[in-house]
Order: sequence, then structure tokens, then C-alpha cells
Amino acid sequence: MGERRRSWWGWGWADQAMTDEQVANLGSGVAARLGVSGLQVRPVPALAGLDLPEPRVHPPGALAGICSTDREDRAGHSMGKAFRDVVRALRGELAHPPDVVAFPTSEAEVTALLDWCSDAGVAAIPYGGGSSVVGGVEGDVGEGYAGVVSIDLTRMNRVLEIDRTARAARIQAGALGPVLEDQLRPHGYTLRHFPQSFEFSTLGGWLATRSGGHYATVYTHIDDLTESIRAVTPAGVTESRRLPGSGAGPSPDRMLLGSEGILGVITEAWMRIQDRPVHRASAGVHFADYHDGVAATRAIAQAALFPTNCRLLDAGEAATSAGVGTGAAGGAVPHELPPARRR
Ligand SMILES: Cc1cc2nc3c(=O)[nH]c(=O)nc-3n(C[C@H](O)[C@H](O)[C@H](O)COP(=O)(O)OP(=O)(O)OC[C@H]3O[C@@H](n4cnc5c(N)ncnc54)[C@H](O)[C@@H]3O)c2cc1C
Repeated sequence: MGERRRSWWGWGWADQAMTDEQVANLGSGVAARLGVSGLQVRPVPALAGLDLPEPRVHPPGALAGICSTDREDRAGHSMGKAFRDVVRALRGELAHPPDVVAFPTSEAEVTALLDWCSDAGVAAIPYGGGSSVVGGVEGDVGEGYAGVVSIDLTRMNRVLEIDRTARAARIQAGALGPVLEDQLRPHGYTLRHFPQSFEFSTLGGWLATRSGGHYATVYTHIDDLTESIRAVTPAGVTESRRLPGSGAGPSPDRMLLGSEGILGVITEAWMRIQDRPVHRASAGVHFADYHDGVAATRAIAQAALFPTNCRLLDAGEAATSAGVGTGAAGGAVPHELPPARRR
């Protein structure tokens, strides 16, 4: 349909995949670093050659327009993006591909999908950006179901409303990080939640996994930014009230935060947003010893200085991620975000 495609097996956009030459260079770099030789580059398996069983279930006519049984869609929604997932996909080992991938565009369509799944005994698995690292999007549901439907929320991706007084925004759950930031930016706001998977993870996924942001002091987890959540469950719609700080009994949001999609499909949430920052400064500091770095990091945290980001990298990670020489025994680098994450 002319839509930009994600890689079905790995991270990123298909049109930004590394060239054969880049892969070969990377392979030599990894081999040199690990001190091994003879690393072979494995080709990506052809979609046509994947061992995908025929879909066991088919959506009713009214839902056919938002459902796909396309090989690429099914392969791409088979698992998350943990290292083991990427390796299995690269080997063409898709153990539990969904029978159908659904792309709802509204809450009414999510409700209709769950009604169909309930009636037909089909497992429904919410899917945001698919960056899960714990198997949460995988259709490994046992024998008790007639089939598996992966419900991809990314077409429900709009910032619906901004409340300037309360400085909050009502945002649809399928908005990927850059998509929601693009909509908040013209209003001078940011959600300021930047997990490392920001580019390919969604608000709904963040809520369902209690994700932690890269700006990791004070407001770290998505919980800190959440005012209320709305979800479609097999028993109906649930929505918590927007309260500044209720202490009345158990918090209903706590049930959905970290629920990994087992209670229902989060469709939208009121989120606390912030004014966009106008000033930025960063510094990198090297330590001779890793333990000194830990002590410095702890001292900064306990002094309540709360830098936006204070990150301790060991020598290996510093060499790979921060371009710091490999010679150091340890290094604490409160470093800048990579360009993709900047405002
Ligand atoms: C390279 C990489 C870097 C990462 N960095 C971080 C990080 O910095 N911080 C961090 O916390 N995590 C990180 N993760 C893990 C992952 O990105 C997070 O768990 C993220 O919140 C998942 O969001 P998603 O939209 O991709 O959700 P998905 O992977 O699609 O789903 C995750 C779980 O949430 C459920 N779910 C998704 N959407 C909904 C919805 N609308 N309603 C109900 N349930 C839903 C799914 O069923 C599944 O159980 C990283 C992963 C990778 C691969």
C-alpha cells in the first residue's frame, strides 16, 4: 500500500538495512573485538521460503478490511526484538506466527476484534512497536485457542487533545515515540519519555511494560507521567479518572501499568507533558576505576542534583556507545543523547 515497511526480522526500517559491505565490515569488527576468526555472514531468509503454516482462522467479513494474512505481516509480528528473537528470526525460526494481523484504526474496531476473538476462542495479543524483550508479543498461547490474532495499534497514533491548564495530553496508544513527539512539538510540549527503543515503541507498549526512559533521574518510568488510562477489555471499556493525586484505595492504573496486554487493549491515555527545554549542557567524565564512577554517580543522585541523564558506562560499553577509548578501566559519561533523540 506504499507504506514504509519495518524490517520483518530485525530492528529498523527495511529501506535502511545495512548493505552487504557494511555487514561484512561489521562482522570483521566484531570478530576482531572478540578475538575470533572465520565469522560467517548469514543471509536474511527469503520471506517466500519461510515455513509459515496456513492461517487457522479468518476474520468475519466486517473486519476483513483491517486484517491481514500477508506473509510479511505475519512474520514481522511473530516475536519481539530481544537478541534471541532477532537471532531466531534470522534463522527463519518463527515458532508461533499469528494467524492474522489486525490494524484497527478506532476503539470501536478494537472492540469488534475482541468480540470476534472471544466468540471464536481466538487469542488476541496487543502489539505496539513490537520491541518487547520478554516474549510479550509472541503467539505462544498453548493448544486451548483456535488461533492467534496480533492486534497492531500503530494506526491509532494521534494526540487527541491537549489540556494546557493541567499540562496534559490525551494520546492514542499506538503512537510511536517520534510520532507523538512530532504532534506535541508544535504546541511547545514534550512527553519527555525516551526509552532506548523510542523510535519503534509506542505509548501503549510503554504503559503495558512500565517502561523506563533514557532521561533516567526523577521522572523515569512511564507511571510517573500517567494521569489516566483507557482500555478495552473482553468485559467492556475501562477508564480511570484524571485525578491530580488520588490516595483513595488501590489505583486502577496500577493494574494496567505493566499488565503486558493480558487484561485488555489500552487505547488511549491522559499523559502529563512538559514544556520543551530551552537549555542543554552535557559533560563527560572519565574515572580510572569503575567503583569510583559508581561512587560519583551515587553522590550526584543523593545530592538531589537530578541531571536529566547521568549514565555510567564501563570501558567496554564506552568504547562501543560513546566513542571513548578502550584503554580506560572504567568511565562515567553523563553523555548527550544521540541526535535521533534530541528535540
Ligand atoms: C533496542 C531496545 C532498547 C530498549 N530500550 C528500553 C528502555 O530504554 N527502557 C525500557 O523500559 N524498555 C526498553 N526496551 C524494551 C521495550 O522497548 C519496552 O518494553 C517498550 O515499552 C515496548 O513498547 P512497544 O510499543 O514496542 O510494545 P510491544 O513490544 O509491542 O509490546 C510489549 C508488551 O505490551 C503489550 N502491549 C503493547 N501495546 C499494548 C496496548 N496498546 N495495550 C495493551 N497491551 C499492549 C504487548 O502485548 C506486550 O506484552 C528496549 C527494547 C529494545 C529491543
